Amino acid sequence: MPQKEWRLDTRVAHAGVGSDPAYGSVTTPIFQTVTYQHTSDGFGPFDYSRTDNPTRHSLAQSITELEGGSGTSVFGSGMAAITALAHLLKSGDHVVLTQDAYGGTYRLFQDTFQKFGVTATYVDTRDPDQVASALTPHTRLLFIETPSNPLLQISDLKILTELAHAQGAWIAVDNTFMTFLRQRPFDFGADFVVYSATKYLAGHNDVVAGLVISRSPELAEEIAVICNASGGILAPWDSWLLLRGLKTLDLRLDRQEQNAIALAQFLAQHPKIAATYYPGLSQHPGGLLHLRQATGPGAMISFRLHDPESVGPMMDELHCIIPAVSLGGVESLITHPFYETHRELPESVRMALGITPGLVRLSVGIENVADLEADLAQALHAIP
Ligand SMILES: *Cc1c(COP(=O)(O)O)cnc(C)c1O
Repeated sequence: MPQKEWRLDTRVAHAGVGSDPAYGSVTTPIFQTVTYQHTSDGFGPFDYSRTDNPTRHSLAQSITELEGGSGTSVFGSGMAAITALAHLLKSGDHVVLTQDAYGGTYRLFQDTFQKFGVTATYVDTRDPDQVASALTPHTRLLFIETPSNPLLQISDLKILTELAHAQGAWIAVDNTFMTFLRQRPFDFGADFVVYSATKYLAGHNDVVAGLVISRSPELAEEIAVICNASGGILAPWDSWLLLRGLKTLDLRLDRQEQNAIALAQFLAQHPKIAATYYPGLSQHPGGLLHLRQATGPGAMISFRLHDPESVGPMMDELHCIIPAVSLGGVESLITHPFYETHRELPESVRMALGITPGLVRLSVGIENVADLEADLAQALHAIP
C-alpha cells in the first residue's frame, strides 16, 4: 500500500522515518551543526541552520504531511510561531480574535503589535454575527481557538472561514488543544494552522516549540521568509525531541481522552462543583457542533468550585495531579487561570469572560484514571 494511503495513526508513528540518506537510520538523526560545507558549484540543500537544518526539516515535512498543508515553519515556541504569523501584517491592519484566546496571544496583539499600528478586536467567536460585525475592510486576519482556552467554547470552523474569506481576510486556527488527529482546519478552508507544539504534539512536558502550517505554497514561503528573517527557530535537539514525542501522539491522546471523559463525568456530578466545561459532556454548549467538526472531545476540562476560596486549598491537597501551568503532556497538570495562564487579561475582562477566581483548568494525562479520580475525590473532600 502506498505510504500516502496509510491511516493517520500509522503515518504519525512513522514521522521522520526515511530521512537519513547516509546510513538509513530509522530515527531522524540530530544534525547538531551550524553550517554545511559547500563546493565551488555552490550550496547543497542546506547552507546555514537558521534557514534550515536537516532535523528540523524532517520534522517540518512530517507535520506538513500530517496536517494536510503545503509547508511548515518550526519555531522555538508557540508564541514565536504566532509572532511570525503577526509579521504578515502591517501598520493599519486589523485582527479579530477569539475573546478567551490564550493569554500570551492576547498580550501579543494587545501590547506588542499595537505599537506597530496593528489593531485587534476580541469577540465571542461562538457567535458568527459578532464576528461579521467586527470584520472591517482593514481586517487581514481572523485568529480563532476552538475549543477555546480555558472555557472550551466552540466556534464554527466552516462559517467563520467563509466570513473571513468573504472579507478578503485570512483565517488562522490555533489547533493546540485538538491536534490534526482530532480536528483538521484545512478541511474547512483555513489558511493557517498554528500550534504550541509544547503541548500535545511533543507531549512530555520537556520541550517548548511552535509551528505554523500554511495551506498554500505561497503562504508557506512567506512564513518561511519571516522565520529566517526573524530567526526564532527550534534547535536540532529540540526538533528531534518533538519528532520523538510525536510518534506516540495517537496512543497518548486516546488514553488522555478516555481519562478525561471519565473525570468530566465525575466532576459534573460532584456537589462541590458548580459547573464543568468539557466538549464531551452532553450538556456542554456547542458540544454537538464540536463533534461535527472534530473527531473527539480532547482531554482539557475546566470546572468551577462553588467556593472560590477553596481552589488554593484543593490544589494543595492534590498529590498525583501536579499544580503547574502548561498542558497536553503525559502528566496531569492543574492550573488556576484567573491567577496564572490568563492573568495578562485585565481583571474586568477576565470576570466578564467567566475566568473567575473559582475556575480551575485540568489537563488530563495518561495515568490510571482510578488514581486521578481518587486524587480529585480526596482533595475535594478535604475542602469545606
Ligand atoms: C501554550 C499555548 C500557546 C503558547 O505556546 P508556547 O509554546 O507556550 O509559546 C498558544 N496557544 C495555546 C492554545 C496554548 O495553550
